[in-house]
Formats: sequence, C-alpha cells, structure tokens
Amino acid sequence: MPASSETIKVVVRARPLNSKEKSENRSSIIDIHEEDKQVVIKDPSGMDKPFTFDHVFSATTKQDFFYEECCYSLVESALAGYNGTIFAYGQTGCGKTHTMQGLSSPDELRGVIPRSFDHIFEAIRIAEGMEFLVRCSYLEIYNEDIRDLLGKDPNKKLELKEDPNKGVYTKDLTCTVVSNEEMINEVMEKGLKERTVAATAMNDTSSRSHAIFTIWVEVSEVVEGKEMFRVGKLNLVDLAGSERQKKTGASGDRLKEGAKINLSLSALGNVISVLADGKSGKHIPYRDSKLTRLLQDSLGGNTKTLMMAAISPADYNFDETMSTLRYANRAKNI
Ligand code: ADP
Ligand code: MG
Repeated sequence: MPASSETIKVVVRARPLNSKEKSENRSSIIDIHEEDKQVVIKDPSGMDKPFTFDHVFSATTKQDFFYEECCYSLVESALAGYNGTIFAYGQTGCGKTHTMQGLSSPDELRGVIPRSFDHIFEAIRIAEGMEFLVRCSYLEIYNEDIRDLLGKDPNKKLELKEDPNKGVYTKDLTCTVVSNEEMINEVMEKGLKERTVAATAMNDTSSRSHAIFTIWVEVSEVVEGKEMFRVGKLNLVDLAGSERQKKTGASGDRLKEGAKINLSLSALGNVISVLADGKSGKHIPYRDSKLTRLLQDSLGGNTKTLMMAAISPADYNFDETMSTLRYANRAKNI
C-alpha cells in the first residue's frame, strides 16, 4: 500500500479577477508561487500569510494542464482497479464547476469530468486482452437528502444502505452502462439538466448541494488461464459552496439547510484530516454525514484523493478565502 502522503493530495487553484471586480478596481490579495507550491494571502493589515500545498495553480492555468498534473494518475489508478475521489471545494463563484465541468466548447475549456471520459475510453481502446464494463451514476446531496439526477423521479429521496459484501450503497440509484464517450457525455448532460431545473425552481440549490458523478470501471482479464476480475471506482465531486450562511436573511428552513450543508463539509474535513494525519488505529468519523458515508470506500485505505480548493483573488473575499485555505491546510499530510 502506498504511503498516505501519496494518497491524499491537496491543491489550490485561483480564479482570475472577473470583469465586475476589475471595473470596481478590486485589488488582488493572492500571490501564487507555483514553484514553491505556495499561496500567499495578504490580510487587511497588509501582513502576508503563506500556505504550502502539494500544488498551486494560478489564474492562468489551463484546464488540460490541471488535468495532467492532478487528475491523470488518479484516473489511471481507477483503471487499474483502485478507488479514487476528486473533490472541488470552495466559496461559490471561485471555480469549482469550472474545474470539474468546465464548458463543453471550445475543447480547451472542458473540465475534469469530460476529460476523464476521454481518458478512460481511450485507455480501453488501446488495452489488449482485457474486457471492460463501464457504468456511471450521478446524484446530488441536498440538505442531507440524496436525489438521483438520472432517475425517473429525481425528487424521490434515496436511502443509504449497508451490505456486508457491497459496503455502503445508495438503494435504487440509477446505474447506466456506457460504452463510449458520447454515451457517457449524454448521461452527464442529462444529470446536469436535472440539476439546473431544480436550481431554478428552488432558488439556486446548485450552490448548496453536493453533486457526485461516479464511474465504475470493471476489468476482466485472463492471466495464466485464470480469469481475473477487478473494479475501480472514480468519484467526481462538485461540493456545495463553503461560504458561511449569512446571519441576516437566513432563518427557519434556510438556516437549518445551511447547518446541514456545512455539516457534510465539516464531516469531510474531519475525515480527510484524520486520514492525512496517517496515524493508524485512529477513529475515522465516516458516519457523521451522508457525503462521508457514501464515499467511505473511496476515502482512506488503498484509495487516492485529490482535494482542489478554489479561491478568489479579490480583497473583499478575504474571510472566505482564508477559511478555504485553512480547510485545505487541515486536509494536508503533516
Ligand atoms: P463555483 O462552481 O465555485 O460556484 P464557477 O466554476 O461557476 O464557480 O465559476 C464562477 C465564474 O468564474 C464562472 O463564470 C467561471 O467561468 C469563472 N471562472 C472560475 N474559475 C476560473 C478560472 N480558473 N479561469 C477562468 N474563469 C474562471
Ligand atoms: Mg458551481
């Protein structure tokens, strides 16, 4: 088993100042030192605070470079039968969806999810003497409820079940067999559309829900006359916005909802920080949220995790950016 330092990677990616921020003459308080793997944030008193990660990406980073640097090897291990997860964490508007999904055109703006489709099916095409079966699912966790983005009734709440053989799984979740890039892209588009419909109807839930696209790759191969079978699983997770719910304006359901969303994010932070700590025998609090229960078999042990923290460079985002950097810092190996 590889050392834990190789299994959890934490990286930071900054977005550029947007046109509104430029027109308002906002200043950038973030410096990215790619070679030193360091992000330096200037606090309101002008003090520099440095943070070091496994990799840091500036606002000019291209999607293909990000994929090659951070995602390629993780997807390769899914093809080799291991489980892996890529998380996008951060304040709403900082680039989680840009990184995970990107735009479908031009090609260079495509994000991690569509790039992983090309990667997987390309690998399958060139593999010799192996049979593959690829399946995928797409779900959303909103308010600690699980919805199937590919289901006949996306409003139905799905249950998490536990089985001695299967482990933790989502009962009745649609799992679609896909045999090429076009098919899996169609599945993704269908789920994305469902997410957008819900977001419009319910006052932009998309920034307050966690979306998980999962790909299972089953491989069978005959080795010395014996059939060998392995299955790898890749979870591609666009997390809910990490911003704190505003004290004013949030009341009743909205406040409760904010608390539940932050519960999943803080549970994830706790699980990853125990894992990153690398001390064996320590209790790992998977059971504290739906998100961590669902991803239990893909976090820790013989799995790979990438945590991408998306940040804004703008001065008025200082508090949220600082909180994102602290969260990411906790997830790091010590
Ligand atoms: P989030 O999903 O975290 O809420 P988005 O990915 O939707 O944020 O990003 C918000 C806006 O900023 C989008 O218009 C997106 O295209 C842009 N953006 C985010 N990250 C980058 C980046 N690294 N380079 C260029 N534009 C970006
Ligand atoms: Mg988003």
